Amino acid sequence: MTRIEHLINGKPLAGKRYFETVNPATQAVLAEVAQGGEAEVNAAVAAAKAAFPAWAALPAPRRAALMRKLGELIAAEVPQLSATETADTGQVIAQTRKQLVPRAADNFNYFAEMCVRVDGHTYPTDTHLNYTLFHPVGVCALISPWNVPFMTSTWKVAPALAFGNTAVLKMSELSPLTASRLGELALEAGIPAGVLNIVHGYGPEAGEPLVRHPDVRAISFTGSTATGNRIVQAAGLKKFSMELGGKSPFVIFDDADLDRALDAAVFMIFSNNGERCTAGSRILVQQSIYADFAERFAARARRIRVGDPMDEQTIIGPMISAAHLAKVRRYIELGSQEGATLLCGGLGAPELPPELCAGNYVLPTVFADVDNRMKIAQDEIFGPVACLIPFKDETDAIRIANDTAYGLSSYVWTENIGRATRVAAAIEAGMCFVNSQNVRDLRQPFGGSKASGTGREGGTWSYEVFLEPKNVCVSL
Ligand code: NAD
Repeated sequence: MTRIEHLINGKPLAGKRYFETVNPATQAVLAEVAQGGEAEVNAAVAAAKAAFPAWAALPAPRRAALMRKLGELIAAEVPQLSATETADTGQVIAQTRKQLVPRAADNFNYFAEMCVRVDGHTYPTDTHLNYTLFHPVGVCALISPWNVPFMTSTWKVAPALAFGNTAVLKMSELSPLTASRLGELALEAGIPAGVLNIVHGYGPEAGEPLVRHPDVRAISFTGSTATGNRIVQAAGLKKFSMELGGKSPFVIFDDADLDRALDAAVFMIFSNNGERCTAGSRILVQQSIYADFAERFAARARRIRVGDPMDEQTIIGPMISAAHLAKVRRYIELGSQEGATLLCGGLGAPELPPELCAGNYVLPTVFADVDNRMKIAQDEIFGPVACLIPFKDETDAIRIANDTAYGLSSYVWTENIGRATRVAAAIEAGMCFVNSQNVRDLRQPFGGSKASGTGREGGTWSYEVFLEPKNVCVSL
C-alpha cells in the first residue's frame, strides 16, 4: 500500500497514525496518509520560519527561475498528475488533464513573471517624499479544499513562494495525493528545504493548530463558509484571504443568445461534477422564455454522461465522498418536499458497470418552479443540482439574484448592453461574467463578498495577503 508522508524541512516525516484516501468511483483504497496534529504543525512552522530569511533574501529573478522550473516539471507530468487527481477526487479526466492540472503549471509561470515586477508607489510633496516597499509576510498557512485540489493548492503556493514567503500547506483529508507530489517536485526544482512544507490530516487536528500558530503571519484559505468563520475566530490577528462558498445566480433575459446561454448554463452547473464554488446553481430565467428554456435545459441534462471519471467522454463522475453524496441526495429529496418540480434526475441510480456500483454517484438533477426562498435555492448543495427560477423583469432579476447570503460569482445573459452593464453593477458578487461562462484570467481579482469571503487573489490582488506594504517617508 502506498504511504503518503508529511513533508517537513525537505524530508518526508512518517505519521504516528494514518488515514486512508479512497477512489470515490470505486471505494478502492488509494493510499494511507500520515495523520498530522499539533506536533507536526509545530515542526512544519518551525522549518518554514527557519527557511524564511534566506528565501526572502534571494533575488526575485532567482526565485522566478525556480518557480518556472517547477512549472516545467508539472507540465511534464500532466498525464500522471491528472490521473492521480481524477482517481483521488472523481473530477473527470477531460477536465483534469486539459484544464485543471495544466493551470497549475500556469500558476507558477505567471507568478514567476509577477514577482520580478513588484513595484511601489510614490507620494511626493514639497517637503517630503513617501514611497512604498513591499516585503514578504513570513510564514503562510495555505489550506485547500477537495474540489480541484491541485490547481487550488498551486494558486496559493505559487504567489506565496514567488513573493518570498515560506509556507505550510494543508490539503483536504479527502484529496491529498497530488499536492504530496507537488512537494517532491518543488524539491526537484531546487526550491530549498523548508520553503514549502506539507502537513496532512483532518481540519480540527491539523488545520486548527496551523491557523492558531503565532508564527503564522498570513492565511490563504479556500473552503466552506462555516470553516472560514471558525478559522477567523481561532486565528486571531493575521492577514487573511478567505475564498468561501457560493450560490451564484445565472441570469438569462429574453433577448439573450439562447443557444449560447444554454451551453454555458449547462456547463456552469454540471462541469466539475457540480462541485464548483462558482457554479451557476440558481438559474434565473425571464418568464417569457422560461418554459421553453426549462424544457431544453432538462433535455440537455438528461443526455449528460455519468460514469467512469477516467473515461474521456464522461461529464459527471462520482461525488467526493459517501457523506457528500448523502448531503446532495438530501437536498434532492428536500427540493421535492419544498414543492419544486423535478424535471430530470432525482434519487434514482445512474446506469453503471458493476465495478462502479459502489461509487458515490448521483444523477444530474434539474428542479423547475423554484422559489428563491426554498432551501435548495439558498444553501450551497455543491453537486449537479440546478434550480430554475422564473423572474419578471430587470428589477425582479436583481432582487432575486441578491437575495442570498453568498456573493461569489454571477452571470448575466442579454444582448442589451445597457441592461448588462446595469445588472453587472447591481449584483452583489465578487465577479460577474456577461454573456460568458467563468473564464479565468490570472490577473483578475478572484474572490467573493458577503458569506463568500474576504480578500481577492490573482495578479497584484495577491499582494493583499502575501506581501506587506511599508511606507517610507523621507524629509527633503
Ligand atoms: P471545508 O471547509 O470542509 O474544508 C476545507 C479545508 O479546511 C480542508 O483542508 C479541511 O481539512 C480544513 N479545515 C476544516 N476544519 C478546519 C479548522 N477548524 N481549521 C483549519 N482548517 C480546517 O471545505 P470542503 O468541503 O473541503 O470544500 C468545499 C467548500 O469549498 C465549498 O463550500 C466550496 O464553495 C468552497 N470552495 C470555495 C472556492 C473559492 O474560491 N471561493 C473554491 C473551491 C471551493
